[in-house]
Amino acid sequence: MRCRHSNDRSSPRIWRRICVIVFALFAGSCDIPTFTMSVEPPIVTFGPPVWIAETDDTGAVTGRQLVPGLVRNDAGWKLSLSKQAFAAARRGVTELAYSGLYDDFYKPGVYQCIACRTTLFASVEKYDSRTGWPSFRWPVAETNVRITWDESWRMRRRAVQCARCGSHLGHVFNDGPLPGGRRYCINSASLYFVPTAR
Ligand SMILES: [Zn+2]
Repeated sequence: MRCRHSNDRSSPRIWRRICVIVFALFAGSCDIPTFTMSVEPPIVTFGPPVWIAETDDTGAVTGRQLVPGLVRNDAGWKLSLSKQAFAAARRGVTELAYSGLYDDFYKPGVYQCIACRTTLFASVEKYDSRTGWPSFRWPVAETNVRITWDESWRMRRRAVQCARCGSHLGHVFNDGPLPGGRRYCINSASLYFVPTAR
């Protein structure tokens, strides 16, 4: 087999090799390595039970319930979360200041976890901290959130997670209004707003 397109001394050898490979491909006799993407299968299951406070549609606690914790791998969470929500809730990415849906937002209702719909905050405890992130004085109940230490970015901050599914919500600081003095600084992308029905 002769290949053309050769104008210098090294080209004929190259083109000969190309022709051999092409011929082998068409003949089906060439052992071509195959590359496959390893795709993690989604895992969606339940973890240890968690006591969660139940509330009415204003966020007032009406009781408590033992519910199964939620355990998923990344592929499992991606089935139900947007890219933005996955980044905030499962990767701990802080949204840009003043960019979130609920920063300058004061309609009456409650804010649930974007990942598992546990009620976390109420609009009656929301205030304008002028920081660029939704800010709350308190969660609806301390059982519904979990506080952990976050030592990223060379800082030591208290991170706030959903108690049922472990999704990252934001951080809590001690510069909030009195009497509590707390500021729960929360990513909009980690929240799902449910307006008050009455
Ligand atoms: Zn959750």
